[in-house]
Amino acid sequence: ANAALGAAVGEQERRAARLPLGVRRRGLRVVVTGGAGFVGSHLVDRLLERGDSVMVVDNFFTGRKENLAHQAGHPALEVIRHDVVEPILLEVDRIYHLACPASPVHYKHNPVKTIKTNVMGTLNMLGLAKRVGARFLLTSTSEVYGDPLQHPQVETYWGNVNPIGVRSCYDEGKRTAETLTMDYHRAANLEVRIARIFNTFGPRMCIDDGRVVSNFVAQALRKDPLTVYGDGKQTRSFQYVSDLVDGLMKLMEGEHVGPFNLGNPGEFTMLELAKVVQETIDRGARIEFRPNTADDPHKRKPDITRAKQLLGWEPKVPLREGLPLMVHDFRARIFGGIGVGVG
Ligand code: NAD
Ligand code: UDP
Ligand code: UDP
Repeated sequence: ANAALGAAVGEQERRAARLPLGVRRRGLRVVVTGGAGFVGSHLVDRLLERGDSVMVVDNFFTGRKENLAHQAGHPALEVIRHDVVEPILLEVDRIYHLACPASPVHYKHNPVKTIKTNVMGTLNMLGLAKRVGARFLLTSTSEVYGDPLQHPQVETYWGNVNPIGVRSCYDEGKRTAETLTMDYHRAANLEVRIARIFNTFGPRMCIDDGRVVSNFVAQALRKDPLTVYGDGKQTRSFQYVSDLVDGLMKLMEGEHVGPFNLGNPGEFTMLELAKVVQETIDRGARIEFRPNTADDPHKRKPDITRAKQLLGWEPKVPLREGLPLMVHDFRARIFGGIGVGVG
């Protein structure tokens, strides 16, 4: 069905691009900014599988060549080392704009760079989309809800965000990116899509990015204690990466702008998560409490009614099923062996 979609779309595009009859691209020309990162590399796999031509634009700040190594030599893949804060000229049909550090440790490392990436990077990609008439998808975040006063979070909720805190470069940056996206949509008639992504995990996450799932899994494998911040009663809802990629592609090819929450409503306290990791990797793993970071949201859980109704999407892989797939990859990367290609 995916190949058929690619071919059908190819015919439309041929006409739109005024290519001679018989000269037809196999699929779409798709840019994935941040395509060497965790989510981006899984998305690239699926787009290539569908028959699209993919251009990855990435500055390799948190992305890694290894994430795409299994696609090396693929005739339809081009990897461009480029910082989205700088303008770029490309000819494309779709832009998935993911470029942005995503883990708190990474985005706090150079907060000014984070906000430049969110604002100037998004502006450049919107300018590009406008020039070539491409459809643009922004990967926003559940962080736009801040420390939410509504639970679970619905897309109509405007959020509770500290504008001057240590997380602001990321959450205010993404809020501005959403604003820019909607302004280009209204002012320049650009076709846009907005996804608000909730905590996602899976193979190819950075091992030392400080996020809770990667920390716990690496700690349990290395026989280090699992570090629970604060009292461990704060909650998050964890989505497996293949579900997210599915949602992003449905959103891009569907007809609704959004914003759409893309997340798994299965909600866990950090202590419950630690328990699942113990059961999956090492029942004897110890837990150590550490002081929590500033402005940490107390709870987070997506209401995905809108995505279910309008995109026909819902996640399929619960935490307990997805975790072993990630553990397999982390084990191989920490102790050696093959693992990066595991999707
Ligand atoms: P990641 O850090 O693995 O990937 C981000 C990619 O962007 C990396 O390859 C990095 O090198 C690249 N990048 C960063 N700054 C750049 C710049 N200025 N120019 C070019 N490339 C740049 O993170 P991820 O988890 O794959 O996140 C992808 C997107 O999804 C991000 O926009 C993030 O905000 C969003 N998101 C992710 C999650 C999650 O739980 N993973 C949750 C909410 C939103
Ligand atoms: N831009 C880009 N590639 C393009 C077209 C535009 O990187 O193919 C950048 C451009 O340099 C500008 C931004 O996108 O910084 C916004 O472009 P737009 O045309 O919307 O605004 P303007 O250039 O008029 O400020
Ligand atoms: N956390 C934790 N131990 C860790 C890392 C994080 O208990 O080793 C907590 C953190 O305080 C937060 C939650 O886990 O409450 C999720 O943190 P993460 O950085 O993964 O993502 P966030 O949703 O905060 O962006």
